[in-house]
Amino acid sequence: MLLRKLAVALFAVLAVTGVQAVTAAPATAAPRILYYDASQAQEFKAVVAQGAQIWNNSVANVRLEPVPSGRTPNIRVYADNGWPRAYTQSLGNGYWYMGRQAVNQGYYQPRIAAHEFGHLLGLPDRRTGLCTDLMSGSSAPVSCTNPNPSSTEARTVNNNFATALTTGARVYTWAGSAS
Ligand SMILES: [Zn+2]
Repeated sequence: MLLRKLAVALFAVLAVTGVQAVTAAPATAAPRILYYDASQAQEFKAVVAQGAQIWNNSVANVRLEPVPSGRTPNIRVYADNGWPRAYTQSLGNGYWYMGRQAVNQGYYQPRIAAHEFGHLLGLPDRRTGLCTDLMSGSSAPVSCTNPNPSSTEARTVNNNFATALTTGARVYTWAGSAS
């Protein structure tokens, strides 16, 4: 009799948790996947992957993943001796440069990578001078090693990919005015 009561109680618990699981699961749509190609990022391939991972840890509505072979990437990453900079064609599409000019000045590489990905995710430069802002870019001190978006920046990206927002072509440079 006791066993039977326990069995009934256990069944009730399972039923309740089962119901909770069912109601909790479909709350959000699948994130939009953006494929990036870091094959031309030279010595910065690992830090490009780190920048992508930072965003994947920070937002739910979009994911940055290495492009599978045979697929066209949404985002291409290059490297050269200029300033880091991003060229956006539309939200989630374009290319960016890991620029050695900033690297050689000592700017923190994961922060640069996450910042430039931020442009591809629809964020403009906001030169607030604050290290807590990712999109403050070079206006924050060279000593700034925060590679993470602020909660406001993460929320904006989630909102960008929650709706069908589109942005026009833009160019953003790490330092100075956009060209
Ligand atoms: Zn920028």
